[in-house]
Amino acid sequence: MRRVKGISREALEFILEASRSSMPREFAGLLQAREGVISEILILPGTESSEWMAWVPVYMLPSMPIVGSCHSHPVPNPAPSQEDLEFFSRTGSYHIIAFPPFDERSWRCYDSSGRRRDLIVIESNRAQTPVFRPE
Ligand SMILES: [Zn+2]
Repeated sequence: MRRVKGISREALEFILEASRSSMPREFAGLLQAREGVISEILILPGTESSEWMAWVPVYMLPSMPIVGSCHSHPVPNPAPSQEDLEFFSRTGSYHIIAFPPFDERSWRCYDSSGRRRDLIVIESNRAQTPVFRPE
């Protein structure tokens, strides 16, 4: 199994933003890792279908390392569906489900069998964005 240290802040924000703007449809993509950090999202075509997992042909998957998937639920329920679990078991070990309101806590990560797993959000060193914490 590929070693994944975490997901970059930018990749996570991309997923949340894409999920938000796809409403009321689902957004779906595949996660690519560079040097152990999930930093690229491959958008899957035709994700307006709620059964997108059923018809992603395996031969379409690119040869670059895929460590898992991401998709959104239009309703605030992050639990993987039966179709999700089938897809998870075929496509890597990190599976993100985002759900309304798509803020920084509105997502969960699961392993290939649908169990919750931790995923660390890694801040970019390049941006040097100051972090403001509410009092
Ligand atoms: Zn789902």
